[in-house]
Amino acid sequence: MTVQPQQATTVPVYEDDPGFPPQVNMPVPHPVPQLDTQPFPTAIAETAPQPDSAGPGTEAFRYWVAADALSRAAQTWGPLVPAGTHWHPSVGRSLTAHLNAGDDLNAFYDRRGLWFFRRTVAGVAVAACESPEVVEHETGHAVLDALRPQLFNAASAEAAALHEAFGDISALLSSLRLESLRIAVLAETRGDIEQSSRVSRMAEQLGWAIRQGHPELVDRDCLRNMANSFFYRDPVLLPPIGPANTLSSEPHYFSRVFSGAFLKIVAGIFRQQDLHDQAGLANAAEIAGQLLVDAVVAAPVVSAYYAQVAGHMIAADLRRNGGRYGQSLRSAFIRHGILSLEAATSITEPQVARRSAGMAEATPGGGDDQGLMAVTIHGATYGVAQPLTLSAPADERRFGIAGSDPAGGSLRPADPERVATSYLEDLLRRGRVHVPEEHRTDAAFVDDNPSRLKTHEIARSTTGEGLVLVRRCFD
Ligand SMILES: [Zn+2]
Repeated sequence: MTVQPQQATTVPVYEDDPGFPPQVNMPVPHPVPQLDTQPFPTAIAETAPQPDSAGPGTEAFRYWVAADALSRAAQTWGPLVPAGTHWHPSVGRSLTAHLNAGDDLNAFYDRRGLWFFRRTVAGVAVAACESPEVVEHETGHAVLDALRPQLFNAASAEAAALHEAFGDISALLSSLRLESLRIAVLAETRGDIEQSSRVSRMAEQLGWAIRQGHPELVDRDCLRNMANSFFYRDPVLLPPIGPANTLSSEPHYFSRVFSGAFLKIVAGIFRQQDLHDQAGLANAAEIAGQLLVDAVVAAPVVSAYYAQVAGHMIAADLRRNGGRYGQSLRSAFIRHGILSLEAATSITEPQVARRSAGMAEATPGGGDDQGLMAVTIHGATYGVAQPLTLSAPADERRFGIAGSDPAGGSLRPADPERVATSYLEDLLRRGRVHVPEEHRTDAAFVDDNPSRLKTHEIARSTTGEGLVLVRRCFD
């Protein structure tokens, strides 16, 4: 009698992250993932291996971990976005992931796809695509770009940081889709979801790898933690970069103010569920995700953008749930200074009704520069040979609200031109802008590390005169 080989129906995967040595996680069997699902079809550039039981360290294993995470992130956001949402047009029909894009400890989204890098550190092969949290973070950038393409080029630290927060929130919500992780996090936090846990700690292995060379740049047990107490400051007043235990305007670091509030919102909504079990946690995560999607679609991209998104989440809860979760939302945004006390109490049902009256229903997508304000500055100050145009955030706020002044009361949001120029200056100081030689002045500051990822470039304007600052990618 012969035994026919059977096609495996499961693949072994990591559910959130490989973990860092020696606290590595055990692979868990998952059903073979489906990538080509609506409204967010995904694909992988490399050829699919047989779904066999290949373990950690093999290319087959990395493929299935990445596929499982891509599919989970797409299915996390799919049901929450408005009908008709699709990837940004330059992405094409499917979002394609490239699992071996070169040597680095990083990954990025660039409107052509997702790119994952790898490097061996202290004898450990660290492949970004082998961390579901990293894959779900990058997929989050693509989802937000589908909903709000204006954020891609917006010259605003707060808009860029909201993108990073959305990436980490994408990883959190994707993790919370798994019953096994919901049970694990309820046990680890004894039901208090705002505590540090396996799902709040982002990218433990990548964090470990970066820590070997730059211990000050990451948390001691992960890359970033959504369980944090960072209090809002206007990013134009912050240094461009700093150690991980301080707040800086660098978007990944500044994102923690918003993602920290979001974790508290999930925790607060969970406390309001009838049952404090894993099913109640699944509900809470979905409710919070829905309010965030509603808010990013509706909120204008302005300076003090966090406050606008926060205000629109409170408004979305009034509309969808009759304000049932208003206290959880207000409390989280106040604790992180995203809304001042006066701002948080000013968003009431009559005000929301009045502001929404006569406004078209918010729709996802739209032109890349829709609602942004072109600001042209003197290039020479920044080592650029011609006038330089930046896409500054718009001027008009829907709710006249703002973040908290640490000294009390509300902050006055910086004007759009100051937001845009401070953003450009920070990018240059961090060495993140590619300035082609022909556009430089003799005195231009040139980053001396060619291996540093350039997230932006100075290019010739396609519509007007002079030069423009354009984004290449979100890492
Ligand atoms: Zn990112």
